[in-house]
Order: sequence, then structure tokens, then C-alpha cells
Amino acid sequence: MKKIAVVEDNPDNRLLVRVILEPLYEVCEYENGRSALEGLPREKADVVLLDISLPEMDGMEVLGRIRATPELRGLPVIALTAHAMAGDRDKYLGLGFDDYVTKPIVDESVLLGAIQRKLAAGQPAPDAAPQETGFMNSSALERLRRLGGDSFAAEMIRLFLDYTAQKIVQGRQAHAAGDLAGIQKAMHPINSSAGNVGAGQIQELAARIEDLAKKQQGESLGALLAEIDNAFALAAPRFEQLRQSLLNQ
Ligand code: MN
Repeated sequence: MKKIAVVEDNPDNRLLVRVILEPLYEVCEYENGRSALEGLPREKADVVLLDISLPEMDGMEVLGRIRATPELRGLPVIALTAHAMAGDRDKYLGLGFDDYVTKPIVDESVLLGAIQRKLAAGQPAPDAAPQETGFMNSSALERLRRLGGDSFAAEMIRLFLDYTAQKIVQGRQAHAAGDLAGIQKAMHPINSSAGNVGAGQIQELAARIEDLAKKQQGESLGALLAEIDNAFALAAPRFEQLRQSLLNQ
């Protein structure tokens, strides 16, 4: 089981993150930067979630020291912060964080998606099929099965697959036509559809594209639409396999 280190001073956030992560990962926690820097070389975590606002030593300084420590240098570090403002993502990536997740964590698949992408990026063969846990948040599947049983979960996956495929095509057509409102309209429903089945990466990409289209920031939309198309192409066969296995149970 992969190990995730959480550096966060707020006990309720630590508890929330633990509950979200524990079905999938081993979790170790640190209340401040100093204890994290002491513990991380021993813990051999695979990904670090690092709060920015920490007492004494803030997250930026902790990151700096991680990058300056030879045995920790390559650790993927995801910023966990309530400082959610336009441009913050670029700011934190520019500072050397590997990704950025905002608090409060309203949708756990965003956090799980960010972690899964980092874990997948560390795999030796990046072109290989995604990891078993890399394409979906298994707690979403459990939730669906609890709500309506296996055939319901299978039907939700089918709807997600059909619908998202259509909407991505619509989004790309709108982009080709320079229609930002059309892109926004196509991406918006993917957000909940992907969220229902726990397709965190697709959901996050759809939300980002929608947000940029809404803000009339068109420059990176072509690349992001290609990215979501690609992510969907990778995830779809896995979801289809899962759907089949749910139907055969
Ligand atoms: Mn804090």
C-alpha cells in the first residue's frame, strides 16, 4: 500500500483527510513542519500533502527544506491550502509544489485525483495502462453500490461513459468554433457525472476547463481539452471492465 504523509496543524482537517485516504493508502500525520522534516526520511512516504499555513515554519519553508534534503528531494509535494485565489495554482506550481488542492475539501475526488496522478507519474512506464486505483476513486464506487446495488453502480458508469464521450466531443467542437460559452456548457455536466463515479482526474480537468472558459482565458483550452480527451480514452476501458464485472456478480 502506498503511503501518504499529511502535514497539517488543524486537527479536523487531519481527521477529514485521514478518513478520505485510509481506504486506499497508509497515512502518516505531522502537526508541524519540524516534526515532518524529522519523520519523513524514515517514513518513506510516496506523496506529501503539505499545508501552507503552519505555525513556526510555513509550508513554503518546509518545501524548501524538503527540496534541499537529498533523500527527500524527489518527493511529490501537493500544497494543501485555503488560499484559493485566481492564479494561485500557477503561483504554487511556480514555487516548486507538484500540485495544489484547495481547502475546504468539498469533493474528495479532487484530492484523490491529485494523489493518483503523482503516484502514476512515479511509475516506471508512464505510457502503460493507469494503475488500478489511478482511474477512479474506489470510495465513489462503494457509495454507489451501497445506495443501489451493483446493477445501479453499473448503470451509473454506463451513463457517465456515454455522456462524457458526447460532452468532450461537443467541447472540442465548441473550441474549434471559438465558442467559449459552448465549452463551458459542455464541461459543466461532466463535473457531476464524473464525480458520481469517482473519475477524479476527468472531473478536475472538466472543472478547470469550465472555469477558464468562464473567465475568457482561452489560451490553454485546446491543450486541456486534448488532455481530458486523452484521460477519458485511458479511463473508459477500465470503467467498462468494472461495469462488466459489476453486471456479472
Ligand atoms: Mn494550517
